[in-house]
Amino acid sequence: MTSLFPALIGSPAERPALRFGERSLTYAELAAAAGALAGRIQGAGRVAVWATPTLETAVGVVAALLAGVPAVPLNPKSGDSELGHIVNDSAPALVLTAPGTQLPHALGDLGRLEIDVREAGREAGPESAQHSLTAITALTADSPALVVYTSGTTGPPKGAVIPRRAIAATLDALADAWQWTGDDVLVHALPLFHVHGLILGILGPLRRGGSVRHLGRFGTEGVTRELNAGATMLFGVPTMYHRLAEALPGDPALAKALGRARLLVSGSAALPVHDHERIAAATGRRVIERYGMTETLMLCSSRWTPPDPRPSVRADGEPRAGTVGVPLPGVELRLVEEDGSAITAYDGESVGEIQVRGPNLFTEYLNRPDATAAAFTGDGWFRTGDMAVRDADGYVRIVGRKATDLIKSGGYKIGAGEIENALLEHPAVREAAVTGEPDDDLGERVVAWIVPADPESPPGAGELADHVAGRLAPHKRPRVVHFLDALPRNDMGKIMKRALKHD
Ligand code: ATP
Ligand code: MG
Repeated sequence: MTSLFPALIGSPAERPALRFGERSLTYAELAAAAGALAGRIQGAGRVAVWATPTLETAVGVVAALLAGVPAVPLNPKSGDSELGHIVNDSAPALVLTAPGTQLPHALGDLGRLEIDVREAGREAGPESAQHSLTAITALTADSPALVVYTSGTTGPPKGAVIPRRAIAATLDALADAWQWTGDDVLVHALPLFHVHGLILGILGPLRRGGSVRHLGRFGTEGVTRELNAGATMLFGVPTMYHRLAEALPGDPALAKALGRARLLVSGSAALPVHDHERIAAATGRRVIERYGMTETLMLCSSRWTPPDPRPSVRADGEPRAGTVGVPLPGVELRLVEEDGSAITAYDGESVGEIQVRGPNLFTEYLNRPDATAAAFTGDGWFRTGDMAVRDADGYVRIVGRKATDLIKSGGYKIGAGEIENALLEHPAVREAAVTGEPDDDLGERVVAWIVPADPESPPGAGELADHVAGRLAPHKRPRVVHFLDALPRNDMGKIMKRALKHD
């Protein structure tokens, strides 16, 4: 199969590839460092990568891809039991780390190899990258490239085996949707152990021949600085866009910088409509929302469209608040009702489970033939477990997860997402999550979990219920309201509804 990274050998030596803080690598340096490391790990069954947000992690993953050795990114913030589970499950031959890293006991006596990006480059020289690049011709499109563990939002993380073909397919579909080229420079502040930060945020720019500037930690100053210094795109999760939306009224420099960006992309969870609208009003830029999963990589996105001064022109696929755009090229998507029949109407109302097929899908859950079999229909559609409707023009609106976000109350199927969006529009609400709980009368009742803007004077439960009923329909009003200091979120900012329900 052709290389995942043609730019590694095709770029001029001085072309910038990666920058983390003060440290950076050109394409030639990356090719040399990753090529040398690839030579040292070639033949290993699988390698783990201690995925701190560093140059070393990027070099380690690229090296594994060059060597054709599946890489398992590990979240350094995981607790011992989760790390123990992942290492037992994936059985890596060794773990790649930055020099001087302290590893937790959970990794046991797993052998380690320290990545010294400069040393590796000096010792080996670019011809070694060339050598490794030729070795990959033995690989097929279906060869496993990465084993990425799901976020564990709904249960223990499962290892999704991601083939090379899926990475190429998803990155090329995004390139089409976003007109993503080697001229793009990405501002990155996400962790590197999930699809978003690693495959989109690191492998994406490298496949295009563009460059990445990683901030280490997300912050408005870093975003402003890099966009002013010529970066063209920002990838973030909704909690980051929420912080931007909150900061914008008092920070004209941030508004100007965001207004300059070609692409502001949000994913990993639903972007609240309120935040989308506030950012659009302050910057003139609509955030492009995309939807995907570890198992499927990217499925839907709005498309980048050149700014058009005529307000009446609505281009196909342009971003719309509250939607994840349209299916990406190559992705087949259908909505399926509980009885297994596909919904054909694009009426914005018929709710069904999103099922997908395409070259972007994973091959299997590692060591979980039961879970793999259960995830596919007999005719090969992957069941995402996410519920959605489609608008008349094909835009997909995620209603939420079948397991936690669909509330069956009084004969209605109610999506948590639209109630959360309505609650977030109330000025006294900072954060909101909606769940269902058993109710003798209704089957389930709508429950709201609210972080008030001012903890000293939270809004009244009745006021919030009326606010929702006024915007949506009366049966969508929360019957119970709980106030919290913060919502339980995982490292991608996703709300852990399991934890809310178990309180
Ligand atoms: P686990 O499968 O372990 O419970 P997870 O599903 O959160 O965790 P990921 O694969 O990282 O693990 O996340 C994929 C899920 O994230 C999707 O199934 C969907 O529910 C949600 N998601 C991703 N992007 C969006 C989006 N733009 N809008 C709404 N939900 C999204
Ligand atoms: Mg999942």
